[in-house]
Amino acid sequence: MSDTTATSVEINDALFCQPHLKEICEDCSFDGREENDAFFGFDPIDREGIEAPSASPNKDGVYQCKKHSSTTCSQCFGWKKQITRSRTAAKKAGKKAGGGSNLY
Ligand SMILES: [Zn+2]
Ligand SMILES: [Zn+2]
Repeated sequence: MSDTTATSVEINDALFCQPHLKEICEDCSFDGREENDAFFGFDPIDREGIEAPSASPNKDGVYQCKKHSSTTCSQCFGWKKQITRSRTAAKKAGKKAGGGSNLY
């Protein structure tokens, strides 16, 4: 349960592998989807992983986006929007959305 911490980094509350800053990384055997989905209030599903844009640690070791030098940038680090998009794509791709939520 806690072995994702070895090679992962938290950026604006979402987990990514280090140093590739990917949510799913074969090189690192890392998959942060479940934790990220749970954190943002989603049920984990099989979806494409999201990727962080260019970012680097600031002097406190907290990752900030290159564009705006912000550690909580809602444009570069807008994970909820990206995850939502990825989930929608996964469902459209034919994955059965079990659970019977009536959002639409
Ligand atoms: Zn990696
Ligand atoms: Zn930014």
